[in-house]
Parts: sequence; C-alpha cells; structure tokens
Amino acid sequence: MHSVHNYLNSRLIDSVPLLELALKKDHSWLIANNDYTLNAQEKRTLDHLIKQRQKGIPFAYLSGTKGFYHLDFKVTPDTLIPRPETELLIDIALDLFKKKPCRLLDLGTGSGIIAITLADKNPHWQVNATDFCEKALAVARQNTNKNINFQQGNWFDAVPNQTFDLIISNPPYIEQNNPYLKDLTYEPQSALVSGKDGLDDIRLIIKNAPKHLNKQGYLLLEHGYNQQQQITQLLKDNFLNIRKYNDYNQQNRAILAQLKL
Ligand code: GLN
Repeated sequence: MHSVHNYLNSRLIDSVPLLELALKKDHSWLIANNDYTLNAQEKRTLDHLIKQRQKGIPFAYLSGTKGFYHLDFKVTPDTLIPRPETELLIDIALDLFKKKPCRLLDLGTGSGIIAITLADKNPHWQVNATDFCEKALAVARQNTNKNINFQQGNWFDAVPNQTFDLIISNPPYIEQNNPYLKDLTYEPQSALVSGKDGLDDIRLIIKNAPKHLNKQGYLLLEHGYNQQQQITQLLKDNFLNIRKYNDYNQQNRAILAQLKL
C-alpha cells in the first residue's frame, strides 16, 4: 500500500518534500490526509523523483524553485542554487544605503537573486545585472517583472563605460581541486570554481571595479571562509573603509570596501 503515512515516516532522502511535489500538495494536506493512497500515476511520478534525488540531483532542481530572502526563485541547472549565506549581502546593502537612491550592479547574477531581491526592497533603485551565461539570464528575466537592466557579458565587459554606486557580486570562489566540489557536480562549475586558489574572478573584479564605481562607491563581495586576508590585501591599493562580515555559521563570508577618493 502506497499511502501518505508510509512516506511521512520514511527514511528516504527528502521523501516528504518529494511527496509534496509529486502530489502538488503542501505539508499540512499530507498530515490531514495521511491515509490517502497514491494512484498509479502519482506513484510513478514519485518513484521517478526519488530516483533522481538518490542520484544526487539537488531538490531545488527537481522542484525548480528555491526561496531566497523574502521571495521564491525559479532555478535550473544553468543557475547556481541560492545559498542562505548570500542573504548576508542583501542585509549589508540594505543597511548601507537605507532608503537612499542607488545605482546598483549585480555581477554574475545567475538566477537573479541579489538584483531582484534588492529591486523588490527598493523600487526606486536603478538595478543592473550581468551574467556571461545567456541561459542563466533567461532564468533571471523570468524571475522578475521589475525594471532591471540585464546585460550579457563576462564581468565588466557587459557594462562598458558604465559606473555605479554599489557593485555586488557572489562570484565563483572555490579552489579547482577542492574535494567539496564532488558534492556539487549538478551545479554549473563556472559559477563555483575560480582557478587554483579560488580567487581568479575576485582578482579580476577588484582590479576592474574602480573604473566602474562612482565617487565613494562601494564594492561588496561574497567569498570563501579562508580568503578574507588575501582579499583585504587585493583591495588595499584602491579601496578604504574595508568592512568584514561573518555568515550565520561564523565563517568569514563577505567584504565591503569603499573606493578611495
Ligand atoms: N557558497 C557556495 C558553496 O560553498 C559557493 C558559491 C560560490 O562559489 N559563489 O557551495
């Protein structure tokens, strides 16, 4: 018998959210209807989802969505799955500008989470977002009806001659040979890996950011837990007021710096 309560008590990975997905019902429906028996079609759908999940496909790619900050985002294998750590960048940006106007650039936007969340919180900001991957940009565009200027191109190549008050990026920052990458094989490697020490893209962004920042503009980056010192060094030539932030796991995770006068 394939009734709901068997799955509610199952030790299969993500069995309950997968059941919610297969039946298109929420958790409270499952609890209230725990004697419901799945029909053949529902059982086939669920078995397929369970198989995919057991192969290691992340749940977000099966459901096609992931929550971030106060919104839900469409995600596909062309986009990184939003991480809760990245919400830190939103808090920092909101606190920095409060309700003041801001011309913002989100570099490497992926599914669009940073640009779209900030545009939603501050409808009067001028929000720009780039990605080198057209397919990712297509997902980002579907994730919003806000007036965001999406541009395709590699980092600053997408916005030649433009300047901003705040540049934010969650770039790839994992080292090439990091064993942790074997757990992330379903996500786009170009959004995760950045050369031998994980800093190739961050170096490029720090080097080119000054010519794309307005006077006293800010650069805000997410980075790996062990990269804070090196990034501080990279920033020192052209930036001051460097502020460092930990994520909710108390790991170094973000850095903010202001363009020198
Ligand atoms: N923080 C992500 C992870 O460790 C990596 C995202 C990134 O490289 N920007 O899974």
